[in-house]
Amino acid sequence: MDLTHPETASVVGENSTTLCRLCGNTELLSVLDLGATPPCEKFLSATELDDAEQTYPLHLRLCENCLLLQIPGLITPEETFVEYAYFSSYSTSWVEHARRFVDETSDRLSLDSSSFVVEVASNDGYLLQHAVARGIPCLGIEPSVNVGRAAVERGVPTLTAFLTESSAREVRAEHGPADLVVANNVYAHIPDLLGFTRALRVLLSDHGTLSIEVHHAMELVTHAQFDTIYHEHFQYYTVLAARNALATAGLQLTDVELLGTHGGSIRLWARPIEAGATPTAAVEEIIAAERAAGLHEPAGYLDLQSRSETVRQNLLSFLLDCKKDGKTVVGYGAPGKGNTLLNFCGIRPDLLAYTVDRNPYKHGKFTPGTRIPIHHPDRIAADRPDVILVLPWNLETEITAQLDYVHEWGGQIVYPLPTLHTSTPTQEH
Ligand SMILES: [Zn+2]
Repeated sequence: MDLTHPETASVVGENSTTLCRLCGNTELLSVLDLGATPPCEKFLSATELDDAEQTYPLHLRLCENCLLLQIPGLITPEETFVEYAYFSSYSTSWVEHARRFVDETSDRLSLDSSSFVVEVASNDGYLLQHAVARGIPCLGIEPSVNVGRAAVERGVPTLTAFLTESSAREVRAEHGPADLVVANNVYAHIPDLLGFTRALRVLLSDHGTLSIEVHHAMELVTHAQFDTIYHEHFQYYTVLAARNALATAGLQLTDVELLGTHGGSIRLWARPIEAGATPTAAVEEIIAAERAAGLHEPAGYLDLQSRSETVRQNLLSFLLDCKKDGKTVVGYGAPGKGNTLLNFCGIRPDLLAYTVDRNPYKHGKFTPGTRIPIHHPDRIAADRPDVILVLPWNLETEITAQLDYVHEWGGQIVYPLPTLHTSTPTQEH
């Protein structure tokens, strides 16, 4: 593996379809082609239904040199995130996950009123609100104007910006170096991987700590979670690939935790080389598990296409049977991953009459590409559909509990992944 020329890769990596954005290698192997789809957060208003809709290829490739999974940078984060529809606080379990993280990390790193915490892509303040509550000085860096405004309204200091080396230097000059930098569910979203990693290092004090949560490519590959691939996710990390990416900016991977969020994520802990930390045994253990799963060889990725197609065929067969039997089928949730699933499977309003979402921003809109209307969740109780297909399948426990009332009329709650299945009622009716 040759990672000795990151400065070369940073010049050629961005928006390239033929060069690995981590190592600059030209050998990119096709592992999953999902066709051409619109960006997954580009929900349509009723007045846009007669307009042309731009689609982009959604094609996952593997670098045969450094084993980073990636898609070409065809859309820029600026196009996606200036007006963004995703408010983290609409997921109850996600806010609780953030509270636990802040509590545990504050204790682990002895954070107090003399510390400084920065969160990159801080969304609506779902996480930093818990630092504010503990009296820990903090700053969110959030590019979406509308989402960042919601954070400020709940008392979380927020800078409207993308994290770049330049904005990182400005934050450091104004606030000083950070003791903790948090980057949750953003490390996949940046096409300039090398520049962004250097910016994380700029924010940190030499003795600081970086915490990153990102979906684990081992879960994506071993469970054919093809719907976690979308245009906004430019790369997909094994721990091995993440360790290599961090090292390009002088950051040492010191610990890894496996998390259940988003269908299987990793929390990476890293520190500047200057801190002289000793990595925990977990780092080598998880890298060994990735090796055992075949992920250190290109061959381990080659059946992702056929396994993803099996998920599609099973789901389509089920929906076509429902149609034939005269059952009403509606969706629950309108997440980004749902749009990859709906577009790849070719599911339109004939098979899924509508979906519902707790985020009022999406009400009255239509899913990109497949043009399925999105309503308020109350619509389910009013209509009493026979089948509810849950699109954010990674929140199965939480959503099955929320939807328990559908069993009153014999409604069936169905999840498409990891394999098509019906949830079990949590109580008798
Ligand atoms: Zn590479």
